Amino acid sequence: MSKEIPYKIYLTEEEMPKEWYNVRADMKNKPAPLLNPGTLKPMTAEELSAVFCDELVKQELDDTTRFIEIPEEIRNFYKMYRPSPLVRAYCLEKKLGTPAKIYYKFEGNNTSGSHKLNSAIAQAYYAKKQGLKGVTTETGAGQWGTALSMACSYFELDCKVFMVKVSYEQKPFRREVMRTYGASVTPSPSETTNIGKKILAAHPGTTGSLGCAISEAVEVATSTPGYRYVLGSVLNQVLLHQSVIGLEAKAALDKYGIKPDVIIGCAGGGSNLGGLIAPFMGEKLRGEADYQIIAIEPASCPSFTRGKYAYDFCDTGMVCPLSKMYTLGSDFIPAPNHAGGLRYHGMSTTLSQLYDDGLMEARSVKQTEVFEAAETFARVEGILPAPESSHAIKAAIDEAMKCKETGEEKTIVFGLTGTGYFDLVAYEKFHDGLMEDYVPTDAELEASWAKLPKVE
Ligand SMILES: *Cc1c(COP(=O)(O)O)cnc(C)c1O
Repeated sequence: MSKEIPYKIYLTEEEMPKEWYNVRADMKNKPAPLLNPGTLKPMTAEELSAVFCDELVKQELDDTTRFIEIPEEIRNFYKMYRPSPLVRAYCLEKKLGTPAKIYYKFEGNNTSGSHKLNSAIAQAYYAKKQGLKGVTTETGAGQWGTALSMACSYFELDCKVFMVKVSYEQKPFRREVMRTYGASVTPSPSETTNIGKKILAAHPGTTGSLGCAISEAVEVATSTPGYRYVLGSVLNQVLLHQSVIGLEAKAALDKYGIKPDVIIGCAGGGSNLGGLIAPFMGEKLRGEADYQIIAIEPASCPSFTRGKYAYDFCDTGMVCPLSKMYTLGSDFIPAPNHAGGLRYHGMSTTLSQLYDDGLMEARSVKQTEVFEAAETFARVEGILPAPESSHAIKAAIDEAMKCKETGEEKTIVFGLTGTGYFDLVAYEKFHDGLMEDYVPTDAELEASWAKLPKVE
């Protein structure tokens, strides 16, 4: 009756998506608009185009077009590393002794080692098409900077990356990959920008944060002719590009008539999760099907599970538009021993709205549990997972173990967003028993929320 399901379900090039899917078109409650921090009025396309490429501004503001064509040049680049496989985790199922059927969509099969290349290539394409000279961005752990530097070198664009200083110093190999692709990498905060100088004067010796690096990158983009700023997560446009993950996953499942019960993704700014769930959420929004959708975040940076749904700054320098999202406050910085990534204080506005509407759930997990799950997975499935991705692995294992108790044969799909070769210092800490779980106190969060902008 049912076809035997292979370990890996691939699509042919012909079966790859030709359009991205914009989930906002099917949302009754649209995500809240970005606000101008000065006037508190919704950002206009004109204001946004001082910072972002024109076509990307259009995508950012488009809440109604359901499908947006993927330009052929982007599809051709995708073909170099896509379609990505949907893997049936037979070995993990066996190891766990679960009746659950586990699948993961693996996005680590490219040099940048993560899903971020899916949006990087799109953003670089539109920058090139607009005739720009280059783009600026920030990077934390370095996956986004690496993906963007690959995309820029492909289109011969200049790429200026502000890298959080602590990562710049601790992850020299990521830095060198970016330089190999021709990007210039500056540790942030730096003396090369006004905001960087200001932050350094106020906090001498600071090791930086994503929020500082964003402020510096935006300053350079808006003050250098022919440059724009690009961002690797959080924004609507990034979720749109990442819908390629979910569309491929859905097409692969449909080939075998499989309908998932549970869909799980890790959430930092929300781009991989938003992309993976997009077509499934669309069906849910249109009343065509139901799925249990779960966002997983670190207990040390719990935007969904403990955050406030409010307008907040996206960056430390407060130069970016205000965004309504689940937030820990723009001053929030996860504890220094936090090694698992996903450290942004806020969350995608689209996912925030969906979560607020009860269309998805969220859970937080502690980092030692995450690394235990990563190790279990690596030992049976072979892939060395990124710590970020391992949050989803942990939750998928938990769900599969629940099925073992109840005897339910649920189908679980999770996003395996990348590989962990550049995270071996974190793995080392875990193996040496030096990894600690830190969970912020309510008082810490209250202190950070005290600085939320007043928006009525
Ligand atoms: C950046 C990153 C994430 C988190 O970002 P999202 O925008 O929340 O998807 C997850 N996994 C990997 C491997 C990453 O590089």
